[in-house]
Amino acid sequence: MLPNDKFKFEQMLREQKKVIMLSGMIDEDTTFDEIMKLGSPLIFNFKGITAINSCGVRNWVNFLKAFGENNAAFEECPPTVVKQMNMIPSFTAGAKIASVYVPYVCDNCDAETMALIDVSKFSKGKFSVKETIPCEACKEGEMELDGHPAQYFSFIK
Ligand SMILES: [Zn+2]
Repeated sequence: MLPNDKFKFEQMLREQKKVIMLSGMIDEDTTFDEIMKLGSPLIFNFKGITAINSCGVRNWVNFLKAFGENNAAFEECPPTVVKQMNMIPSFTAGAKIASVYVPYVCDNCDAETMALIDVSKFSKGKFSVKETIPCEACKEGEMELDGHPAQYFSFIK
């Protein structure tokens, strides 16, 4: 296993709030004991998470239950995390979701990009996201949302 495949986290402070930058893979070997010791509330930044397997999901769900979902906020969740959020309601439980990355693909040059979307004001069935954005790579094509918004945002309660 390459070192960058392992799970890591870093703590930072943003306006007096503790932000935990998660990175790497969440799997059967991932423990959140060290994060638990940091106290709450915490903001979990998932930007650096590259993969989660089913054992990792179980570890995370157990951690969140013990940590207290009301003391947790999620931000910058990449598609691999959003997928779990949509499939497994207890992955987020009652945690506050601040922002997620939405994948776009260019219809002209196949370039891919991720747009960070603030979902904090979205509610069930009430959200707005651009279906297309201009392509920065070829400057000609339109980038289309890769997937169905209603499906992608089904984690919103
Ligand atoms: Zn393009």
